[in-house]
Amino acid sequence: MRVGLYGGTFDPIHDGHLHVIRELVSRNVVDRLLVVPAGEPRLRESAPVATGSERRQMCQLAVNSLGPDFTDKVEVNPIEVLRQGPSYAIDTVEAIAATYEGAKIALILGTDAYEKIDQWHRADELKKMVEFVVIDRPDFPGQANLVIDALAVSATDIRSHKSDQIPAAVAAYIKEHNLYASK
Ligand code: ATP
Repeated sequence: MRVGLYGGTFDPIHDGHLHVIRELVSRNVVDRLLVVPAGEPRLRESAPVATGSERRQMCQLAVNSLGPDFTDKVEVNPIEVLRQGPSYAIDTVEAIAATYEGAKIALILGTDAYEKIDQWHRADELKKMVEFVVIDRPDFPGQANLVIDALAVSATDIRSHKSDQIPAAVAAYIKEHNLYASK
């Protein structure tokens, strides 16, 4: 059993993230995939715009939009959003390891996130506990070990209205909740 952990700010979740999720599941890279929106991410210049609860709900809407073949295998896990204080991947990995005893844990990251891995809290212990699946990102050339023809879209592009590559249900949520100065 291989459990994939796909963490991120997801402010908001977009089609680039969904492409990653679809590829991981349909290629059987993981048996189960946990999408984990971060609470208070470190290593970012500014705090997320949407709250943890809003980002969690957008993740859930996006996962629902994938259809039953995926929803059986993919779940949004609120562990970091519900945790007080900063989110550390190592704490999440330890919690997942206790839940899925004996499973291999794969940490899914884009090349941009993987570049900063040595700065992560308790990075050496984390490296011993997980395998890294590093996804290519066209906008961030780097060392990937899974090439999936990732989409050139970022949450920054969505927040600044440079791209509208998000699922319709997420677009409706953004509009309804007036996020990112939505039009
Ligand atoms: P921002 O623009 O706000 O920095 P982002 O689009 O990079 O956001 P995150 O929530 O920070 O999104 O990303 C979560 C994870 O998904 C990270 O590991 C990131 O590298 C990866 N990722 C983000 N966008 C893509 C994409 N288009 N293709 C592949 N991986 C991606």
